[in-house]
Amino acid sequence: MIFTVAIDGPAAAGKGTIGRRVAAAFGFAHLDTGLLYRAVGAKGGDPVAAARGLGAADLARDDLRTLEAGQAASRVAAIPGVRAALVDFQRRFARAEGGAVLDGRDIGTVICPEAEVKLYVTASAEVRARRRWQELGGEAGAKPLAAVLAEVRDRDARDMGRADAPLRAAADALVIDTSDLTIEAAVAVALAAVRAKFTP
Ligand code: C5P
Repeated sequence: MIFTVAIDGPAAAGKGTIGRRVAAAFGFAHLDTGLLYRAVGAKGGDPVAAARGLGAADLARDDLRTLEAGQAASRVAAIPGVRAALVDFQRRFARAEGGAVLDGRDIGTVICPEAEVKLYVTASAEVRARRRWQELGGEAGAKPLAAVLAEVRDRDARDMGRADAPLRAAADALVIDTSDLTIEAAVAVALAAVRAKFTP
């Protein structure tokens, strides 16, 4: 059985949580494609060579989840040679036997336009910045909310404005705006969308 759930959207909208929950509920494999770009950004040197030579050890680094790694990822992600080097791996993962959930920026538009279910998970920049800020410790953390909001806006602009595979919702994607939804409510919408298309 080949079945792909493509989840796209900006940073901190809830894609990862929704992706993991959908994968667990249906027994599908899950790929956080942002990790590939984070690993390329963190590796340093020539980004295209880094993308071509990406290995398991690069993806296992424990410093890939920081805001800085996210910014570095979004800079290398604008380089067409980097994106091209990562396409085949993602396509194979998406169409592998057993079902797959991929979350990222271009899954429904470029990597797997034939995905059976496409979700575009979004939220206002203010709500997403506040979530990231809280994850970083809130008032007790190292960064003021305004700085996190500036980084969120910066990354949105770069991801939506690049020429190659810009972030946008596929025409046939179901848009889930999580600004005013609990995680449980957002997950429920996603699960219902998959259930409507998937017959085990
Ligand atoms: O999702 P995450 O925040 O980990 O992604 C980091 C960066 O990687 C994004 O800001 C984006 O520039 C890039 N990315 C991408 N295409 C994907 C996934 C991530 O360009 N499919």
